[in-house]
Amino acid sequence: MSNRVALVTGANKGIGFAIVRALCKKFDGDVILTARNVDLGKKAVSQLEQEGLTPKFHQLDLLDRASIERTKSFLQSEYGGLDVLVNNAGVAYKVAATEPFAEQAEVSVRVNFRGTLDVCEVLFPLLRDHARVVHVSSMGSKMAIDRCSDDVKRRVKSASEQSTTDSIEKLLDEFVQAAKSGKHQELGWANTAYGMSKIGVTVSAIIQQGQFNKDSRKDLVVNACCPGYVATDMSSFKGHKTIDEGADTPVYLALLPPASDSPKGEFVSDRQIKTF
Ligand code: NDP
Repeated sequence: MSNRVALVTGANKGIGFAIVRALCKKFDGDVILTARNVDLGKKAVSQLEQEGLTPKFHQLDLLDRASIERTKSFLQSEYGGLDVLVNNAGVAYKVAATEPFAEQAEVSVRVNFRGTLDVCEVLFPLLRDHARVVHVSSMGSKMAIDRCSDDVKRRVKSASEQSTTDSIEKLLDEFVQAAKSGKHQELGWANTAYGMSKIGVTVSAIIQQGQFNKDSRKDLVVNACCPGYVATDMSSFKGHKTIDEGADTPVYLALLPPASDSPKGEFVSDRQIKTF
């Protein structure tokens, strides 16, 4: 039988790096540290090797479909499947960013939401029985939904109840178009590009669990989570959690034992299910 394997996106630094570190210690199988930049990824692997850990490296850029396909071929040939997928990679503009909101909306949705969905689309066929998938979303998704109009809230809720991600994809396209027209607030969307993109990530987990449940014998589980406010480049190192503390909930979800019935298709923070 092939070795079990876990893969983490955006793991050259920050929370993703700490998730790889923890999985190297706790996961029974190989751990693949992926990064879009090969040099940064290999440097991160060497750093963990100096700690006595043995992650493997593979290049993966959420914005490059060919790179996701190459990752699939690598997993297929080396392992014949995938046991843990942690979708951690993401971007956030700083509060002081000068890029126009329309651009922030387009890029945030493209990377955080669309990029994560692309990885799922390509790699999900490799998931073996009992596989665990974790989307590192954000409490920002919950704060964003709270700030949307009742109509948008209703439409997001309805999208989360569908059997495919088509509706949430359409909603986020609509948000980006509204941002481009400068009317997103008028039309009921929250004024946060990052928060809106992470709504898509959280809702995707809910929908994907519904898809997984169609073949319950496979025992596939996907959850979205917030790592907390973590000291990384993204938070300009203002977060109060260390990267290892930020990795705690994603790693807990990645290692949920076989046949666990909760959390499943949930939004989780500090290992607790939060209503979304
Ligand atoms: P960092 O900015 O430290 O790390 C982000 C990682 O994502 C980097 O490895 C980055 O690569 C990678 N990345 C960005 N774009 C792509 C891409 N197109 N393809 C592949 N990798 C990419 O952030 P954090 O560690 O803080 O964030 C990790 C996750 O946690 C994110 O999803 C974030 O939204 C979430 N989160 C973080 C919080 C915090 O307080 N820090 C709070 C809530 C959620 P590169 O180095 O090349 O840019």
